[in-house]
Amino acid sequence: MNEKPEKLIDKKGIRSDGRKADELRPLKIQVSVLSNADGSAYIEHGKNRILAAAFGPREMHPKHLAMPDRMVLRCRYHMAPFSVQERKSPAPSRREVELSKVIKEALEPALFTELYPRTGVDVFVEVLQADGGTRCASITAAALAIADAGVPMRDLVVACAAGKVDDTVVLDLYDTEDKLGAADVPVAYMPNLNAITLLQMDGILTAEEFEKAVNMAMDGCKKIYEIQKEALKTKYMVVKEASEE
Ligand code: ADP
Repeated sequence: MNEKPEKLIDKKGIRSDGRKADELRPLKIQVSVLSNADGSAYIEHGKNRILAAAFGPREMHPKHLAMPDRMVLRCRYHMAPFSVQERKSPAPSRREVELSKVIKEALEPALFTELYPRTGVDVFVEVLQADGGTRCASITAAALAIADAGVPMRDLVVACAAGKVDDTVVLDLYDTEDKLGAADVPVAYMPNLNAITLLQMDGILTAEEFEKAVNMAMDGCKKIYEIQKEALKTKYMVVKEASEE
């Protein structure tokens, strides 16, 4: 599996996948990729390949889970058995249950839940290929799927991690860096509102390194936000062009 390379960052500051410390992996985002979902998005974030589908706001099933004063957001994060090198059991693991909760809590602040009492919004995230940072890429895609479903939002939510590899704080860790690095700090962020909706830390950082990582992750989020918005806009441009023909 992952043999630890002697150095994850070379003398020139270049990482093992050729990136600079503050460089994101290549990103590609598309919306409305599934015709049977109310809203959907597909993201390629480095080697991560993730699909998100959103439904609602709709009547809650089972009914007893409906809340009289607000909408309920439900999220399911799932990794396909073929998404990692060794087959992953399709049954939900503890990690997937935890990430489902993390994703829901990162997205919820963007929704006007109080305006849709007794309803539910469901988001299904399918990781087709995983290469580190899937919770962040899932949040970015899930927020777009909800927006694509036409659910009013305070802002899009966008997520990105920073962390420490060797002795350097770096942006957007891929699998090898995630596993062999010293720390990982995933951040979800609503750029227009300048509000963080998820902040986790796995590993050990000094207070200064932590601050640097959070700022770096927020800068990464702002760059991804532009690509996210562009993906939404592209959908409407295609519709407009089609109607002009
Ligand atoms: P995140 O994907 O948000 O970084 P983790 O830190 O838990 O979440 O996982 C890091 C990476 O470890 C994943 O992106 C994936 O590449 C890999 N991974 C997760 N679960 C498994 C698994 N069951 N088998 C092999 N690799 C896995």
